[in-house]
Parts: sequence; C-alpha cells; structure tokens
Amino acid sequence: MKKIVVLGSSGSIGTQALDIACNLASDICIKGLAVDSNIEILKLQIKKFKPSAVSVNNFIESRNLEKWCVSNNIEVSVYSGPSGFERLVEMPDVDMVLVAIVGAAGLKSTIAAIKSKKDIAIANKETLVMAGSYIMGLAAEKGVSILPIDSEHSAIFQCCIREKKSQIKKIVLTASGGPFYKYDKEFSKITIEEALNHPTWKMGRKITVDSATLMNKGLEVIEASVLFGIPIEKIEIIMHPQSILHSMVEYIDGSVIAQLSNPDMKLPIQYALTYPERLPSNIKSLNFVDIGKLEFFKPDFNKFPCLKLSYYAAKKGFTMPSVMSAANEVAVEAFLNKEIKFTNIAEIVEKTMYAHTISKSLSLDSFIEADFWARHYARKLI
Ligand code: MG
Repeated sequence: MKKIVVLGSSGSIGTQALDIACNLASDICIKGLAVDSNIEILKLQIKKFKPSAVSVNNFIESRNLEKWCVSNNIEVSVYSGPSGFERLVEMPDVDMVLVAIVGAAGLKSTIAAIKSKKDIAIANKETLVMAGSYIMGLAAEKGVSILPIDSEHSAIFQCCIREKKSQIKKIVLTASGGPFYKYDKEFSKITIEEALNHPTWKMGRKITVDSATLMNKGLEVIEASVLFGIPIEKIEIIMHPQSILHSMVEYIDGSVIAQLSNPDMKLPIQYALTYPERLPSNIKSLNFVDIGKLEFFKPDFNKFPCLKLSYYAAKKGFTMPSVMSAANEVAVEAFLNKEIKFTNIAEIVEKTMYAHTISKSLSLDSFIEADFWARHYARKLI
C-alpha cells in the first residue's frame, strides 16, 4: 500500500490521480490533499478518501473548511497558507508526494518533501526548469526518486529504465503540435478560444497556451535534460500530431525504444504512483490496424520561436531557463487576460531573456532571484 499526498488535488492532474487511487484502492492510500482555494471539490474528496490532513492555501477558505469539518463531525487536520503545504508533505507515514501545483508553492513544497525523504511524482515542469540542478542534487543527496508525470518524460523513463545513461545516443521528444501546427492565418490574430482548443490533450489553461506556442515542448526539452542528465544537444523534437508515440530513446547501437499508448494522462500518472509496479488500468488498447500509420514531421522553429528560445536558454544554462519560464508565465497570463496578442508571448520572453545577466551560481537563491527579476521585467513590457 503506497501512502500518497496530492498537492493540487482540485486540478486536472490531481483529480485524475484521485480517480486512479479510487480504482486502485487496495494499492494506493491518500494521506493528504492540498488545494489553492477550491474547497467545494476538496469536501467531496475528503468524504471519499478520508485523508488524515488537508491544506488550503487561501486562509479564509481554510477557515470555512474547518467549520464545515466540525459541523459534519469529520476528523481531519486542516492547514493553511503556503507553509500548510510544507506541513502536509512533512507528515510521517507518507511514501510519495504528487506535486501538481504551479508556481513558487510548487517549488517550496517539492523541496520540503525531498528534505523529508518522500519520493516525488512531479507534474510541475516549471520547478524543474527553474531550479533543476538544485532539485536533482538534493534528491540524490537524500536518496529520493523523482518520477515524471509528463507523458513524454514518463515515456523516456520507461524507455531507459534498464539501460545505462552513457549508452543513450539521443532522446526524441514528440510534440502533437498543438492547435496551430497547420494554422495558415496570421498568428497575431489567434484568439484565446482558439489557443485553448487543444486537439488531443485536455489540460489546464496555462499549459494549453504553452502547447499552442510550443513553449510547453521547449520547457519539456529542458525538463528532460534535467531529469535524465542528458545534454541538450542530444535531445530532439519531432512533430507527431496523433499523440500515440509519447517519446523515444535511441541507443549507441542504433536501437530505438519507444513508448506508445492511446493519449490519456492517466497512464503516466498511474505509472508514477505505482512505480516500480505496473498495475491494470482502464486505458483502451491501441488498435494498430485502425491507426494504419504513424506520422512524423520536422518542427518549424521560425513559426514557433519559443522552441528556439528554449534551446538557447538550455545552452546558456544557470539562471537563463528560470528567466525564460518566469517571463513566459507572466506573458501567458497577460494573453489570457486579453492584455497582449498571441505573438507577443514569445516577444516578451525573448526581450526578458535578452536583458538578463546570467548569474553563474547554482544556488537556490540565485534561481529564485532570477525568477523574481524576470517576472518584474516581463510585466513592465506588457
Ligand atoms: Mg507533455
């Protein structure tokens, strides 16, 4: 029985993780749940999973939840604020923490969980892009496993689990291409509704916009480099609109190992939660005859400048990926608030990166400082 804390239990990854926990009730036990402010969903989850503690970032909502618990005679510890997330992950008798929250809270609670020797299932790629070398170093020091939830990284993890890192020739990350891969109108006219209409994956708003600009793929290249300790030069992107093949690894002998499945985030989430076991799931089998053929195309770095920016950030290293990711978060939010055009996202990110002076330090503080600086600078450009 694996005991798990889910940070971000009301979001897309969190709710899917709980569906899995429900199907695998004899293998997974939910010890803790955390949300930002959505206590209505949390109430249903508390009734269903009976966690020993929960945390609500929003203080007023956490008080409302406490009152609800008392009036319903439900015994559960309720923590609040960002430090509440840390208390939750530090609970003894927890094996794994699923990090499915975005932003700084994700970083802090990931660090707290690693420090208290909990394995991490990570869905927050921004944390790895921002402070990857620090996180991986800390995890190695504490003997903690970092398991990917991202479908591509889960695929790579599954493709290289038995092999030596030194035998990897290259990693090929697949990209569905998002909604604009074949878009022939002017990119500056792209609306929020069009950007949020992803053809194969149903996800949160920020990551869906990132999938439309392909910044998501750019962040994933850096994430792969961090997670697997592979230099950026050995990581390639290939367009694969069907989202059947989730990524592949080529070895020095010319063998290519790939992972395929119907596109369903439940598969990588379940694999991370149950690792090293594989347990049954409800995911539909692939029918190769119906699929007929798998298609692959070269990515267009000019149409999607965020790809170029990501490789540049990865090559520069140190604080540059942190700056890119933070500027992107600010720009995407501005686009979703109708403050800027779709094409302005990449422009703002590029200008912020250009203005940044790299700090050649790998300390956590330097990553946090760079993130803070980039948010401030990007905001001024809007
Ligand atoms: Mg992905």
